[in-house]
Amino acid sequence: MADQQPKEISGLQLWQWRQAAIYGAIAADVSPAEVDWLLQEIAGLDRLALRLESFKDWPQIQLPLPLAELDLLWQKRLKERLPVQYIAGVTPWRKFKITVSPGVLIPRPETELLIDIAVAAVAKSKDKLRLQQGQWADLGTGSGSIAIALADALPEARIHAVDYSSAAIAIAQINAQNAKLSDRIKFYQGYWWEPLESFKGQFSGMVSNPPYIPTSIMSTLQPEVVNHEPHLALDGGDDGLDCIRYLIETSPTYLKPGGMWLVEMMAGQADTVREMLQNQGSYCNIEIYTDLAGIERFAFAQRL
Ligand code: GLN
Repeated sequence: MADQQPKEISGLQLWQWRQAAIYGAIAADVSPAEVDWLLQEIAGLDRLALRLESFKDWPQIQLPLPLAELDLLWQKRLKERLPVQYIAGVTPWRKFKITVSPGVLIPRPETELLIDIAVAAVAKSKDKLRLQQGQWADLGTGSGSIAIALADALPEARIHAVDYSSAAIAIAQINAQNAKLSDRIKFYQGYWWEPLESFKGQFSGMVSNPPYIPTSIMSTLQPEVVNHEPHLALDGGDDGLDCIRYLIETSPTYLKPGGMWLVEMMAGQADTVREMLQNQGSYCNIEIYTDLAGIERFAFAQRL
């Protein structure tokens, strides 16, 4: 959306559109707060101008697209459950503004914690310096959010970010540039570890938010998710654990001793994932971490 010619409309026109959009949201059971969030993102309006409706008197406001097109997209929000983040083209995540498109999963708030877990694990490790300065992999990087936040949190690390989708890699590269972290993150199109073959045994850590939804429950997800977000990033096969199982099997060859393994998973998967890590035989210090809702959401281990 941002690459379109800016369009100018009057404050009054936008005010009228906002009124209708809010009524439409209420009628369609969509949070009306989304209207103001969208206007903050695309029209540069601040909260106060929205709250006081002072923008109504402004002679002109710049939009990145014609009002009719914005309205068409908003109707898709209401009728087709298009996520509002895909209309804005961005989502806030940690301290970043992440560019998103329907080619990538919208980064979720619970995933923010994955970075804190990785950083805390490094900080308390006796190998702290070596891990901080090493090579890290973000497998299935999608929008690149995890790779970017990790590069920011571990300023001496080198990040290798992989995704099977070239559309995702293109978005992730934009996000790395926007965060001014391109020089520390290398992007690869490919299948999990495969593009990183030449770094076998050298990784200080691997982080991933892989697809983990069991195929049979995909259709029960919110329409915003199942109808608009990439299934490649969501569908984890019969039990949802195809990718996590694969990452458990393949990672020991890529991690150095003490190297960290950290993935996101869904409610109900922790016991199986812990058992798989134990049975694999190459991991130690296995831990499960909960998210802020108390759901067992992350599995951590270290290479023996
Ligand atoms: N947390 C996402 C959801 O609930 C799923 C992300 C994933 O499969 N990695 O839609």
